Amino acid sequence: MKTLIYKYCFNASDSGDIKFAKSLILIISICCSFCGLVWSGIYYFFFGFGLTTLLPLIFVVIVISSIFISHFTSNYKILVYAQLACITWVPAFIQWSLGSIHVSGFVIAWCFLGPIGALLFLNEKDAKIWMVMFILILGITSIGVPTFSMDGLKVTENARTIFYLMNIGVPSSVIFSATAYFMKDLIKQKERNFSLLQITNEKNKEIEKSLKREKELGTLKTNFVSMVSHEFRTPLTTINANSDIILRYSDELSRDDINKRLEKIKSEVLDMTVMLEDILIIGKSDAQKLDFNPVSLDIVSLIKDIIAEYQLSEPKSRTIIFNVSTPIIMIPADKKWIKHIVNNLLSNAIKYSGEDQQIEISIKKEPTGISFSFKDYGVGISKEDIAMLFEPFYRGENVGEISGTGLGLVILQKALNLHKGKIEVESEIGKGSNFRVTLPAV
Ligand code: ADP
Repeated sequence: MKTLIYKYCFNASDSGDIKFAKSLILIISICCSFCGLVWSGIYYFFFGFGLTTLLPLIFVVIVISSIFISHFTSNYKILVYAQLACITWVPAFIQWSLGSIHVSGFVIAWCFLGPIGALLFLNEKDAKIWMVMFILILGITSIGVPTFSMDGLKVTENARTIFYLMNIGVPSSVIFSATAYFMKDLIKQKERNFSLLQITNEKNKEIEKSLKREKELGTLKTNFVSMVSHEFRTPLTTINANSDIILRYSDELSRDDINKRLEKIKSEVLDMTVMLEDILIIGKSDAQKLDFNPVSLDIVSLIKDIIAEYQLSEPKSRTIIFNVSTPIIMIPADKKWIKHIVNNLLSNAIKYSGEDQQIEISIKKEPTGISFSFKDYGVGISKEDIAMLFEPFYRGENVGEISGTGLGLVILQKALNLHKGKIEVESEIGKGSNFRVTLPAV
């Protein structure tokens, strides 16, 4: 059957919908032609060879030949119109051959397949025309009762019962099956549309996400440019000025003065290197390329060592008060990243507080790992700024002339993510800040 449909129905250029409609009209035509043969046989049984017996055969001949014509002319509409015309008019003529609706067993019920077929294979406007045609046939039959033959007189009570069963049962089953088939297709279509909608929604979300990311990158770029121009200009000016003086007045300057200026240049270069390293880390972490190699280490001595090292490089000394709950606390951590965290917290505490103000560092063993906090009594941070501290290049409104890039805490957050740790900030403007880091033991 499938091969037959493929051979006689489809053209290479047919769309899925057309193929579907074509195969359906072909199946219906074959089924109705089969019914035509059966009807003709039954009428022959009751009436012998007459007009009523001949009409269903005419139906079969027209429809079957239109199958071939439509195939060879590649115009399936021929089959549709032939089928609709025959299914509407042949039962009407059978009706008029027999007489009243009662005598025929309501054979014009078949005519209703006309508007239904038009609805399925043509369009709503055509379907209305076929419906009007059906009503017209019904009207003519009910009012006028034209009779073309004497076959109606031969209809017995039993024959009428059989005719009723045939003419109501079969067309209504055809209508039901066609509707059910189309409904199934409609539901499938609906499901397809629904999943398409879901895919579209997901794609939209992805687009929205990348647009947001694009926007963020734009802001990042702007902030980066303004940060670089601001933060690099000062050290570059200092380097330029000092090297200029050394070059021009080397004969007049004392050895001590030259050394001081060289030290200044070195420290500015170091600061710029740190800034560049921070920028590189931000770039790398975007591509998720940060290397992380945790080993079991004593975090207490590590923090103390980092602070001692930091203090050695700092010209101005600061009072640092240590508060350690347990002398040795072993946790898995990456030394390089812990150094970043501690250096950032300590340098910020020093940077954002007065020279005479002390800094308190507490290290505590926790049930799930370890926590350490850096407390200072400096400028503090407003609530609005706390919410934004971990955004790249963000700096508090009260930093004034204190230099900085707004990258330290962003890198610190990334280092904490690698360790599955977290940070909490408590601060009050003018009173100081407390940064508390928690790291898990495993
Ligand atoms: P930077 O210090 O280079 O600006 P950070 O990322 O380290 O960048 O810090 C971001 C901002 O957080 C700082 O600009 C500052 O406003 C605020 N901040 C961080 N630590 C402190 C602190 N201890 N006291 C006050 N403000 C701080």
